[in-house]
Amino acid sequence: MKKAKKQRPGWDEYFIGIAKAVSTRATCLRRQYGAVITKDNIIVSTGYNGAPSGMKDCLEVSQCTRKELQIPHGERYELCHSVHAEANAIIRASVDELKGATIYIAGVDDGRNECSAEPCMMCKRMILNSRIAKVVYSDGNKGFVVVNPKKWLKKRV
Ligand SMILES: [Zn+2]
Ligand SMILES: [Zn+2]
Repeated sequence: MKKAKKQRPGWDEYFIGIAKAVSTRATCLRRQYGAVITKDNIIVSTGYNGAPSGMKDCLEVSQCTRKELQIPHGERYELCHSVHAEANAIIRASVDELKGATIYIAGVDDGRNECSAEPCMMCKRMILNSRIAKVVYSDGNKGFVVVNPKKWLKKRV
């Protein structure tokens, strides 16, 4: 009897799934993001959003000011103490590892619903200077967006 060939996920789907798993460690009440940096399909670094080590995070104080004040997406980041997932992944990788690498980002909102994980403007600038060559983020609709960060240069993020 012939068995149907089992479908394996592609690399992008595979690493986005891992970024989702990483996001479960995040400490912000409003959004939980995970990031995975790969080079030649090997994981070099991971990160999730959270307060700097030693500082009380949103979970511990049961409050995220950005959530409380219903600050729109992309604004007033100074009100949440988190270091973003992308930033945490980048600072844990070496310059050589980052050059030409891929970063995967996925996240969920406070109801554990998948949300768009497009990096914020600060993270876009950091990704550009880290020389990461490819960015893959979940679109909040079970799919993902693949982008060459150089595209952001035109909009002056
Ligand atoms: Zn927060
Ligand atoms: Zn960010």
